[in-house]
Amino acid sequence: MVPIPFDNTYARLPPRFYSRLAPQPVAAPSPIQVNGELATRLGIDLDFLESEAGTELLAGNRVVEGADPIATAYAGHQFGHFNPRLGDGRALLLGEVLGSDGARYDLQWKGSGRTPYSRGGDGRSPLGPVLREYIVSEAMTALGIPSTRSLAAVATGEPVFRERPLPGGVLLRVARSHIRVGTFEYFASQRDDEGLELLVEHAMSRHYPELLETGAPALSFLQGVAERQAELVARWQLVGFIHGVMNTDNMLISGETIDYGPCAFMDTYDPKTVFSSIDHHGRYAYQNQPAIARWNLACLARALLPVCGGDETETVAAAQAVIDGFPDRFASSFQVGLRRKLGLSTHQAGDEELCEDLLRGFEAAHLDFTLGFRQLTILANPDPDPEETQHVEQHIGPLPDGLTGWLARWRQRLERDPRPATQRAADMRNHNPFFIPRNHGVEAAIRAAEDDGDFQPFRILVDAVTSPRHFRADRADLARPPEAHEEVKQTFCGT
Ligand code: AMP
Ligand code: MG
Repeated sequence: MVPIPFDNTYARLPPRFYSRLAPQPVAAPSPIQVNGELATRLGIDLDFLESEAGTELLAGNRVVEGADPIATAYAGHQFGHFNPRLGDGRALLLGEVLGSDGARYDLQWKGSGRTPYSRGGDGRSPLGPVLREYIVSEAMTALGIPSTRSLAAVATGEPVFRERPLPGGVLLRVARSHIRVGTFEYFASQRDDEGLELLVEHAMSRHYPELLETGAPALSFLQGVAERQAELVARWQLVGFIHGVMNTDNMLISGETIDYGPCAFMDTYDPKTVFSSIDHHGRYAYQNQPAIARWNLACLARALLPVCGGDETETVAAAQAVIDGFPDRFASSFQVGLRRKLGLSTHQAGDEELCEDLLRGFEAAHLDFTLGFRQLTILANPDPDPEETQHVEQHIGPLPDGLTGWLARWRQRLERDPRPATQRAADMRNHNPFFIPRNHGVEAAIRAAEDDGDFQPFRILVDAVTSPRHFRADRADLARPPEAHEEVKQTFCGT
C-alpha cells in the first residue's frame, strides 16, 4: 500500500528551481503529536502515521514511495536588504498531495538537515520552535486565519547546538504551497525571464486559476496576491497577531501565514508592540504590518515587471495602481472585521469613529486586547455565562472609566442594529476568541517539554487554542494575561 498519495508538480519544474536531496536521518525519533484531523483531510492513513514507520517518515529517516524530496530556491528582502540566495536551508519538500477537499497541499519537513541553501546553518531545529509553530499555526487555523499547518511534531533524540545544547525536533509542515514573494525575486534577480514565466504560470494555476485567462495574467496575479494579503494582514490585526519577521521570503503568494519564528500575540493593546529580539527599529511592529505588506507587494511587482508584457510605462502604472490601492483594501477588510467584533451587522455613519475611539480607549487603559473584546461580547449578551464573566472581571476588572461614554454610544448604536441580541452575542463570540496562544503559555509549554520532557502542557495548550471561541472553566487559566513575572518581552527566530 502507498501510505501517502503523492502527486508532485513543483519537482517537475526545471532543475534550477530546486536541489534534489534526501533528508538526513536522526538518531532516535519519537512522536510528540500527530494531527489526526489534518491527516484525514490529506487522505493520509492515521494508523500509518502513528506507527513506527510513520514516525520514521515524519522524522526524515525514511523516504516513502512517491515522495521526491527537494529544497527549493528563493531569495528575499530581509529587514529591507536583498539577499539573492536564501532557499530552504533547514526544510525539505517531500512532495504534494491532493486532499479530500480537492485542494493541493505541500508536505515539508522542517529541521531535516543541511541543504545546498543552508549557508552557515546546521539545517536543524530545536524542539522549542517546532512546538511553537505547531501551537500557533494550528491556533491561527482554528481562528479562521489562512495559515500553513502542522501535521506532526517529532523529537529527534539528538541535541541541537545553539548557545547551549537543546533537544532537537522536526515539524511536518503543510501548506497550499511554499511559493514566496522571494521565489519570484530569485528568478528576477537572475534575469531568468523564462524561469519567471514558468513560476507565474505554476503559481497561478495552483492559486489563481480563474485569473489565467485574463488579458494580462501577471498583473492580475499581482492584484490577486494583494487582495489576499490585505485580507490576511487585516485578520492578523483583528486578533493582535504580530508576525515578527515579515521578510519577503516569509510571504506566501497563496495568502497563508508562514514562518512562526518570533511571532507573538499582544496581551496589552499597544500598536507599537514589537517582540522580536532582532527587530531593533520596530520595522515589524504591530502597527507597521499593513505598510510592510504593501512594501513586500512592491517587491513582488518589481520582480514581475519583466514578464508583464505590454507597454512598459502602462504596465508600471498599472502595477503601481495595485500597490497604491493596498492601504484602502486593507482598511476596508479591517473595518469589516472590527464591526463584526463589535456586533454590528450593518455599516452606518460614525462606525469608523466608534471603532477608532474604542481602540484609543484600549490603548489609554492598557487593556488586554483579547479579554477586552471578550468583555464587550459579555456585555452584549442577554444571557452571559456567570463563570466566564467572573473570569474576565477577575483578570481585567470592569470596563475602564475612560470607556463609559464610549459604552453608551455603542449601546445606542446596537439599538439601531437589526439583529436579535442572542444572535449578535453568538456572532460576537465567533469573532472575539477566548483562547489565543498567549506568549507566557507557549513559553511554559516549551519549558516543560525542553527541560523536563513533559509534553502534557503542550497538548493541553493545543487543545485549548484549537477550540478558541468557547469558554471552558477547566482551561481558563490559559486565557488570562501574564503576571508581571511571566511576561514574555522578547521572542527569537527559530534558528
Ligand atoms: P527564516 O528566519 O526562518 O525565515 O530563515 C531565513 C533563511 O535562513 C532561510 O533560507 C532558512 O532556510 C535559513 N535558515 C534558518 N535557520 C537555519 C538553520 N538552522 N540551518 C540552515 N539554514 C537556516
Ligand atoms: Mg522563513
